[in-house]
Amino acid sequence: MSSGTGAAAIPIQRSPWDSDPAELERIRQDFPILQRQVHGKPLVYLDNAATTQKPQSVIDAISRYYSLDNANVHRGVHYLSQAATEAYDTVRQKTGRFLNARFPSEVIFTRGTTDGINLVAQSYGRRLVPGDEILITEMEHHSNIIPWQLVAQQTGAVLRAAPMTDSGEIDLKEFEQLLGKQTRFVSLVHLSNALGTVNPVKEMIGLAHERGIPVLIDGAQSVPHLGVDVQDLDCDFLVFSGHKLYGPTGVGVLYGKESLLEKMPPYQGGGGMIDTVSIERSTWAPVPQKFEAGTPMIAEVIGLGAALDYVHALGLPSIAAWEHQLLTYATQELQQIPGLTLVGSASERASVLSFVLEGIHPHDVGTVLDQAGIAIRAGHHCAQPTMQHFRVSGTARASFGLYNTMLEVDELAAAVRGVAEMFI
Ligand code: PMP
Repeated sequence: MSSGTGAAAIPIQRSPWDSDPAELERIRQDFPILQRQVHGKPLVYLDNAATTQKPQSVIDAISRYYSLDNANVHRGVHYLSQAATEAYDTVRQKTGRFLNARFPSEVIFTRGTTDGINLVAQSYGRRLVPGDEILITEMEHHSNIIPWQLVAQQTGAVLRAAPMTDSGEIDLKEFEQLLGKQTRFVSLVHLSNALGTVNPVKEMIGLAHERGIPVLIDGAQSVPHLGVDVQDLDCDFLVFSGHKLYGPTGVGVLYGKESLLEKMPPYQGGGGMIDTVSIERSTWAPVPQKFEAGTPMIAEVIGLGAALDYVHALGLPSIAAWEHQLLTYATQELQQIPGLTLVGSASERASVLSFVLEGIHPHDVGTVLDQAGIAIRAGHHCAQPTMQHFRVSGTARASFGLYNTMLEVDELAAAVRGVAEMFI
């Protein structure tokens, strides 16, 4: 991968389980669900872009918390509350190190990517005035479109989208031209969940910063599949979801530069986010508490911490390298199937393979594969503008995780070939 992707912070190398299949088998044993059958067939789980499976260590961390340590954080003097607070804050530090944030306080726990983008849109976005522009791209997930549409409706700001080419790459010249005098904010997907495109976000952030415009990176897919260094990217905000990183649902992270977070108004009000309260007015706690109103998702944050430990122990460079090999092999195999067209052929792609079979609805592909125990996704992948660009209503999508095998790719290719032959 080139340095423009931001992924280059983690050099691609061979994964240890590449040359040692027994190591991959050991890793698979960490994920209890991978041992189960679906429709009487061993599960082949290729829907990792939607959500990843959880290792036993994550399941155990959540169960241990509820069995032994359950208490509310931040408000108690008793032993359990202090233990829960410490466990919760430790994950903040761990997440900061994982992203290479300057300070742990730059990590805000959210419900997920969607929640993080809504937080920035409704807090930072409140300063927008009629005529201001927000720039996104044509390949965004709906969660990086709708929050900006809402804030545009509320403030009179205008939402613009940088177009992509037919290979599924952002046209950088057009992107630069759209960075105008009125542009006040840029929000970009790093790794497209619908196409697998890895955008050159570091370069795009640089272009925006030359004009003094802050940038949010949607790292829902890039954080688990490429790894991200927020200081290297120099992004102003970055969001991701725990459940796509082998962690639990219901928890995610918003990274924000301290200088920006400090100036932003709260997103939600309630307990835990205040300094003083009177009926007339209140003052706010410092960041990150200012953005964490109410009882947070304590068990989920602790589960996220276990997921970070798991991923860290394997190493994101190894994970990225293995998924790269799976993707390369799958691309090569699927391309040979008559009537199959890949949707998205960017020069830099990761973990996601989208395709259509001529004359066959993607849902039919998904349903037939399901009968073989193969879980893929079919539909618009919450990226309807991307589908509109390619003039399809949806695609079939296989997406890889650290535990997938080359044999599973063979099974995918054989099953897709079977569908193609069945309908021809
Ligand atoms: N952005 C991208 C690129 C995604 O893939 C997803 C999840 N499919 C999201 C945003 C939204 O994530 P969540 O539903 O976990 O909030």
